[in-house]
Amino acid sequence: MAKNIDWKNLGFGYIESDYRFVSNYKDGAWDEGQLITDANIVLNECAGVFQYAQTVFEGLKAYYTKDGHVVCFRPDLNGQRLEDSARRLEMPVYPADKFVEAVKRVVEANIDSVPPYGTGASLYVRPYMMGTNPVIGVKPADEYQFRVFVTPVGPYFKGGAKPISIKISDFDRAAPHGTGHIKAGLNYAMSLHAIQEAHREGFAENMYLDPATRTKVEETGGANFIFVSSDGHTLITPKSDSILPSITRRSLMYVAEHYLGMKVAHREVLLSEVKDFAEVGLCGTAAVISPVGRIHTNDGDILVPSGMDDMGPVLTKLRQTLLDIQHGELTAPEGWVVTIK
Ligand SMILES: *Cc1c(COP(=O)(O)O)cnc(C)c1O
Repeated sequence: MAKNIDWKNLGFGYIESDYRFVSNYKDGAWDEGQLITDANIVLNECAGVFQYAQTVFEGLKAYYTKDGHVVCFRPDLNGQRLEDSARRLEMPVYPADKFVEAVKRVVEANIDSVPPYGTGASLYVRPYMMGTNPVIGVKPADEYQFRVFVTPVGPYFKGGAKPISIKISDFDRAAPHGTGHIKAGLNYAMSLHAIQEAHREGFAENMYLDPATRTKVEETGGANFIFVSSDGHTLITPKSDSILPSITRRSLMYVAEHYLGMKVAHREVLLSEVKDFAEVGLCGTAAVISPVGRIHTNDGDILVPSGMDDMGPVLTKLRQTLLDIQHGELTAPEGWVVTIK
């Protein structure tokens, strides 16, 4: 029985679910892990996660398809990315195959919290990992915990995907030491001030530029950019070592090429050429694509030709095609849609 939740009016917030998966790393090995009911964590005041922010995370969604299965989308890529993030922060790797198993176990245990098909809502899955033992000298922890919890979330857009205004950030995006290409709490902590500043000035998001020259487009705080060429035939996405490799973006590039017959380009994108693009979008798990209508720069605003009323036609088609693949209405490439139940 589905839980007594008002699925249609769910926002994007935390709702405690019944079960979470926990595995501990000690003496050089992960234990086999278990499902538990306690949502709270008790740690020593000097735990590595509190002192030197040794924590990395992932985010993906589980949802019902039309034919009544519960599935998730490309969880193996989230598992691989968590491995990369962990290596970069000198944390032990939680193997991607065990990661996928843990995700499946937690979703299955909380199957009552998966929003029904057709509500636009989904079950957001949050795997993460942190250093747990006391660390006072600057060094990695010796003990870690890997956890997966879930929370039902509403559709990202209520009543259509309205284009947003964004601004060129006054701040550099990457946390110190160039950790921008991993999914880590510290990257987000470093972006909180920039995003709040943008909100205070009336913008929904930031566009970060490369810190060295401030001439090339990187990404936003939590989504990659995609651009449609002026002739509508090419999907372009910026290339840089400090951009988080979005699974949505990689999937959209594949869909553009193999389902829609578009050309795709993964290359450096200069800020000076953005004014020539027909459509601009942000992409990530939560919204799939959010359209951008206006970009504020210190030399005046770039008004994207697709405007402030609706998402442009190419990104609309692209978004719908990926949604149809995710929901089983179009045949997915091998391994993209993983059945949980
Ligand atoms: C999560 C995230 C994205 C989007 O990645 P998806 O895998 O598509 O959800 C983009 N940029 C940053 C910085 C992120 O943390």
